[in-house]
Amino acid sequence: MIPGAVKIEGVGVLPAQTEGRADVYSDNNYILAKSKWMPDDEATHCPLCQQKFSQLRRKHHCRQCGQVFCSKCCKTNVPLPQLGLENPERVCDGCLPVVELVTKSKSPQGSFQSESIQGLLEQIHDSTGLRKVVQLGGVQAIISLSRSSNSEVRKKCAEALHLLAMQEPLHNMLIDAGAIKALCGLLMSASETDEQLLSYLIGALMIFAKAPHLQMRVVQDGALPPVLALCGMNVSEAIALIAVRTLNLLMENIGSHTALIESDRNALPRLLKLTVSMDEQVKLFYISVGTTTGDIRQMQEVSLKTLSRLSMGTDYHRHRIVQEDFSAGKCLMKSLQCHPKNLQVLCNAACLVANLATSEQDQSSLTECLDALCSLLTKFKEQVDLLVHVIRGLANFASFHQNVYRLSTNEAVQQHSLRLILHVLHRSSEQAITALMRDGGADLLRSIAKTPGMVDAMQANLRQYVSALSAPS
Ligand SMILES: [Zn+2]
Ligand SMILES: [Zn+2]
Repeated sequence: MIPGAVKIEGVGVLPAQTEGRADVYSDNNYILAKSKWMPDDEATHCPLCQQKFSQLRRKHHCRQCGQVFCSKCCKTNVPLPQLGLENPERVCDGCLPVVELVTKSKSPQGSFQSESIQGLLEQIHDSTGLRKVVQLGGVQAIISLSRSSNSEVRKKCAEALHLLAMQEPLHNMLIDAGAIKALCGLLMSASETDEQLLSYLIGALMIFAKAPHLQMRVVQDGALPPVLALCGMNVSEAIALIAVRTLNLLMENIGSHTALIESDRNALPRLLKLTVSMDEQVKLFYISVGTTTGDIRQMQEVSLKTLSRLSMGTDYHRHRIVQEDFSAGKCLMKSLQCHPKNLQVLCNAACLVANLATSEQDQSSLTECLDALCSLLTKFKEQVDLLVHVIRGLANFASFHQNVYRLSTNEAVQQHSLRLILHVLHRSSEQAITALMRDGGADLLRSIAKTPGMVDAMQANLRQYVSALSAPS
């Protein structure tokens, strides 16, 4: 394959390049690079009608593709402002349909712009048309037209960009040409009542956000503000959910965390509010407009997951989450205390709080969350996935001296953690001692473990207070 070519449904095509910078969203006066002219003596037949060239059948170059044709197959003259050629030039019948559309996209007239985007949209619905569009500058035309003042043109651009985004081989070319900026610009100007338009736009952004190597570019090209705005907009739950999912994907890249925390003052409170389960009134409203309660639970699950990702970053990020949670109305507490059918909601909430528990400066703000974790320990005895986060969280809290009293006076925590240590000491004393040595107290534990009958006696004694078995609650 030629360098720079991409494959669309198995067939290679060389995408149009620009002279100078590739980003045509930022530079509406872009000029496409001209194709190389095929030397006359290499052409023996017209590639369209297959007729042999002769004294009578003369050779003509198409100014767009640079190939050599007969006069019948290369008869139309079209101005090519996209190549910097304002006067009509000869164009072959193969290039003509798409070239005319790209020429019209360069016009300031709304009616020409409408014809252009309508035609390009029809072309990209099948792979042959799509290849021509890619090759002849149609992608640049679509991105450029997304800045049109005509809202119908912009809407069709959104649909076209959504279709293009589905073509994975085009991703790099699309991003270089400014497709993310175009999607963001369109999102910023979209009305929250136009669900169709919003779903094209956020759907396309989500496709890009799914590719790990593109996530950073998507954030750099400005996706966070419009995606966050969409999370908080009065749009259908389905669209808001795609927005939160997109945000979650973008946060897979730790390099994007600061951008989220710094990008918009309301980003964190917005995300935090999405974690709180809705009251019955709101739920009934959403059900009446056709949203299932499943979507609402997913919203909680995904927003908590996104915050958990954010809490993996720096101490400053964790501190900001705790601060914003306080002003947003203690959403984390509410998430830990909710009774979701979807246990993943609680797992994500516990994971988030366990991460936040490492923040030294926030210990006093997190006291209630610590208590909520303790009660999960007794409420969900059988849920291993959840308990892993709960125990990790308690261990993190326990490393700060101000929590030690609170934890050691909590009966459930005290008894279960003692049981755990004794079990471990009993079964594999050497490994347990090595692990516990890191926290000191190794000598004491070693002597307990080595004293004959000591561990058994302690366990028997403890069993008087706490039973291994429990009736279902
Ligand atoms: Zn011909
Ligand atoms: Zn041509």
